[in-house]
Amino acid sequence: SELIRNLENTIENIPDFPKPGIQFKDITPIFLQPKLYEDVIADLVNFSRGKVDAVCGIESRGYLFGIAVAVALEVPFILIRKAGKLPPPFIGEKYDLEYGSAEIEMRTGQIRPGQRILIHDDLLATGGTTQAAAQLVEKQGAKVVQFSFLIGLKDLHGEEVLKKFDAEVYSILEY
Ligand code: 5GP
Repeated sequence: SELIRNLENTIENIPDFPKPGIQFKDITPIFLQPKLYEDVIADLVNFSRGKVDAVCGIESRGYLFGIAVAVALEVPFILIRKAGKLPPPFIGEKYDLEYGSAEIEMRTGQIRPGQRILIHDDLLATGGTTQAAAQLVEKQGAKVVQFSFLIGLKDLHGEEVLKKFDAEVYSILEY
């Protein structure tokens, strides 16, 4: 589609960032083109319309699109943050990285038991971050029904990791 072509031409590939061997996808040039940004949001909104009761976005690039999607859907937006930034009450989830571990947190009481949740981030790599986010949501009695991303990195098999949630997975672009 035209959207996919425009995104491919806009997202920059930065070799060896943040570490040697990593091909970093830089999404920031999207914000230089307001019309393209609008088209991205419209596409993500189209995927989720009528299917979710709230959107959870993952810090920090997940906020850049997630909040616009939530506003367009007229549903709440909830921030999932890196550990140590949210005031209480919150719950946390640790997950493994290639080297070491990380932790994300979410305020309690912002999503409700039984809600259908979309988890959104800019990019799906190994799925570690997204999986931890989904566990945070489900610990609170809500159901993750959709995951959406701008980019999915196929070789890293993030989709396999997310299978256990039995939710729809959508990436606008796949590499
Ligand atoms: P995962 O946990 O799936 O391995 O990594 C996904 C997380 O890392 C996302 O929060 C995403 O923002 C970030 N990330 C990993 N690689 C890239 C990349 O090449 N470009 C961007 N924009 N984010 C990345």
